[in-house]
Amino acid sequence: MSATDREESHRARMQRKKAVVDAAIARADRDQGLLLVLTGNGKGKSSSAFGMVARALGHGLRVGVAQFIKGRSDTGEEAFFRAQPGVTWHVLGEGFTWETQNLARDRETARRAWAVVAEMLGDPSLGLIVLDELTYALKNGWLDLPLVLADLAARPALQHVVITGRGAPDELGAAADTVSELRDVKHAFRAGVRAQKGVDL
Ligand code: ATP
Ligand code: MG
Repeated sequence: MSATDREESHRARMQRKKAVVDAAIARADRDQGLLLVLTGNGKGKSSSAFGMVARALGHGLRVGVAQFIKGRSDTGEEAFFRAQPGVTWHVLGEGFTWETQNLARDRETARRAWAVVAEMLGDPSLGLIVLDELTYALKNGWLDLPLVLADLAARPALQHVVITGRGAPDELGAAADTVSELRDVKHAFRAGVRAQKGVDL
């Protein structure tokens, strides 16, 4: 094949590709509040969710964040976003009984936590809500999944919700519009590096 032929064949291929991409873009022509689930064992779930918080704030949306059973309260994202106008930040589910495994008490803690979330889900002025590490409360049976799904389904039509955490239940993925599973290929922690500010917290 001559250089000119190669050039022509490349141009034709790119033209076909552009037609396919243009058609796909033209088909996606509506707005909708999205439910996103970021799950899996790899790093990048919460930090991706907080990237969306920055995006949303940049567009003037108001944002609500609820962090479930957060082991630490010294994260960079909390320090930064709490100080931003337009952000409501809740740390919920403190006091889950890892040690005593008192299920009745954990369910009560989760019920109170979800009441706070349900209020945010009922607030159409919030354009984006992040439910960070929610999956553990579902996995451990502290929160009633059908109740969670019903409240999510009843939220305002243009409100986006991002849920993070390992082991998202299949029903949650089924209800979501966008699901990403982060795969753990390698993590510096296993090579003996402790959590680094700006990267891990
Ligand atoms: P990040 O907040 O960095 O986006 P994540 O939300 O995907 O991480 P979590 O399971 O919530 O992951 O864990 C939070 C903390 O654990 C972070 O400091 C993160 O760097 C670290 N971490 C995440 N995945 C792994 C892993 N596979 N091995 C060891 N540590 C991890
Ligand atoms: Mg996380």
